[in-house]
Parts: sequence; C-alpha cells; structure tokens
Amino acid sequence: MNDRISILVVEDEPKIRIGLIDFLEFHDFTVTEATDGLQAERTVAENSFDLILLDLMLPKISGEQLCRQWRQSGLNTPIIMLTAKGLEKEKITGLNLGADDYITKPFSLEELLARINAILRRTDPAKSVGQKFAFGPIKVDIASLKVTINDKHIPISKHQGQLIQFFAANPSRVISRDELYEKVWGEQMDGIETRTVDMHIAKLRSTIEQNPAEPTIIKTVRGAGYIYETD
Ligand code: CA
Repeated sequence: MNDRISILVVEDEPKIRIGLIDFLEFHDFTVTEATDGLQAERTVAENSFDLILLDLMLPKISGEQLCRQWRQSGLNTPIIMLTAKGLEKEKITGLNLGADDYITKPFSLEELLARINAILRRTDPAKSVGQKFAFGPIKVDIASLKVTINDKHIPISKHQGQLIQFFAANPSRVISRDELYEKVWGEQMDGIETRTVDMHIAKLRSTIEQNPAEPTIIKTVRGAGYIYETD
C-alpha cells in the first residue's frame, strides 16, 4: 500500500515549480505538477490529492477562480495559496475563497513544510504520522494494530490506535477531552463522554505505560486535558 502523501503543485514559474517539486520529493511526498490553471483543473478532475499548493497568478484560469470553483463543487482537499509579496488583499481574498492557508513569495521552503505539516495534522492525523511510527519509547504499527514494548508485541484496539495516532500527530500540545472526543470519536461531547475519554486513556496507559499510575508518555494536565511530550 502506498501511503505517501500526494501534493499537487500548481505554479507557472518554472524556477519556483521545479524548486518546490525537488524539495517536496526530497521530503517523501508524491508530487504532481500543473503549469497553468487549465491543466490544474483537468488534473484535479481526474485525480485526488492530499493537498494542493496553488499559485494565485496563473495563465488561463487564475488560482482564485480555481479555488472558488473547487470549493463550490464540494472539493475539500486542503489548499495553500502561494501569493506574491505585499498583496495583502490577495491573501484575504484567497482565504475567503476557501484556501486553508497562504504563504507569501519569496518563502522559505522550511516554512512551507511547516505549514503543510500543520494542515495535514489538522485535517488527517493519520496522514502526518503514517502507519508505523515511534510513540515515546514504544513502536506503533497501526495497520496491524499492535505496539512493541521492550521487544514484546501487544495488540491494541482500533480506538487505542486512533488515540495514539492523534497524540503522535500533536506532540507537546495540551489536548482537551472535548477535542479528543471530537477528533477520535468524531462526535461532539455533551457531558457524559468526559468519562469515556478518561476511561479510554486509563486503559491505554495500562497497555503502554511502565507504571500507569505515573504515566510518562501521555500525561494529564490538570483541568485542561492531556499532553504527549517528546524530548
Ligand atoms: Ca504565477
């Protein structure tokens, strides 16, 4: 299974486009390119992407128009707009059209990568950590729903896997019970579920922590929620 993240780069300036593609491929993304608005429109109609980098000033169909028509047609792929320097009004228009973020040219590629990862974490935590990853001292394999602790393989439930994925995708951030419930269970919380979340965390700790009474992987933040801290 190919779980590499696919990105469409829509940019007419060859230098910027080639630079972007090299950089993104180096960081293990699968990259498709479109050099004008029309090509972008066709490519998006025939393929699905995890994220689109969209230049605003494009030949044939503008980035603005593309973004508007994609959103109107129900496409919810995250879009980062590439805007020219100083065009503040352009940026705001871009966001109103349904772009998730924008970055101003000339931008640093590291900055762009940070934005891409932030958006992928928000939209799909599974995509940003992948199927196999380290979680504190343990190894996690989501596809086979097991964790490896001191060379011992221990099965986990689907919900536990989702919880771990969510924490792994959001390191060093306090996550409220509401947010966990919404992101992992996909529902709004209305009071009683606080205990559901706590019970699942307790159960997960009994599986992954050396000493569940003094957790070192998922810590409790009093009155706020939980945090996964990486050193
Ligand atoms: Ca351009």
